[in-house]
Amino acid sequence: MKLVDTHAHLDFPELLQDLEGVFVRARKCFVEHIITVGIDIESSTNALKIARSFHSVSATAGVHPHGAHELSEKEIDLIRGLSSDPKLVALGEMGLDYYRDRQPRPIQRRCFEQQLEVAIEVRKPAIFHVRDAFEDFFSIVRPVASRLVGGVVHCFSGDWEVAKKCLDLGFYISIPGIVTYPKALVLQDVVKKLPIENVLLETDSPFLTPFPHRGKPNEPSYVFYTAEKVAQIRGEDLDSFCNQTSINAARIFGISLDY
Ligand SMILES: [Zn+2]
Ligand SMILES: [Zn+2]
Repeated sequence: MKLVDTHAHLDFPELLQDLEGVFVRARKCFVEHIITVGIDIESSTNALKIARSFHSVSATAGVHPHGAHELSEKEIDLIRGLSSDPKLVALGEMGLDYYRDRQPRPIQRRCFEQQLEVAIEVRKPAIFHVRDAFEDFFSIVRPVASRLVGGVVHCFSGDWEVAKKCLDLGFYISIPGIVTYPKALVLQDVVKKLPIENVLLETDSPFLTPFPHRGKPNEPSYVFYTAEKVAQIRGEDLDSFCNQTSINAARIFGISLDY
């Protein structure tokens, strides 16, 4: 059985302080590869540093909507520079967060549009963070979707209608540990209906710890609980479900899992 945690923040102190332990526990839970995601220039640089040091880790570079600002040419150049590294497999996380609304919405939109252009230019897939903002997300992303080499809607929080629109654009839908919570009925409905070829799994660690470890910091090994729950909801064999989602991850991020 093989799993990929397609969205973790290994550069956050909760995980960084015991990376070796994180990797050992992940291995025990069949996690073959981890994508560590940048949220600003500094964290993207650190993510790439970690990816360069560990065979089973790849990195992304991007500016999270919580830190959105008009990107300078210098910052765009830094992102371009990071993305020339073969271990940098995607741009993001980028997007819109109207739930927390930590930055003015026009600034969030501008920062998102700028990063989309870089993703198109450097020919790497984009990882999207979208909360309570799908209408604006689609109006920004739809006109450029055909020029993108691929997209992942991470920590998916929409309903089936939103999921269908993402699928129409050819995007992958990444399922977080939230799906294990009893109240996550909308997400559970979405995972039942998704075509398997578009499903990815993630922890978003150190956040969003799945049942039964809720309350503790999340870590990549816990993607196993998410896999178990989603396979159960879909009525699929756990092994083949995990392997298929790992094949999906290998395809979108261009990583090798030694199959
Ligand atoms: Zn996010
Ligand atoms: Zn994240």
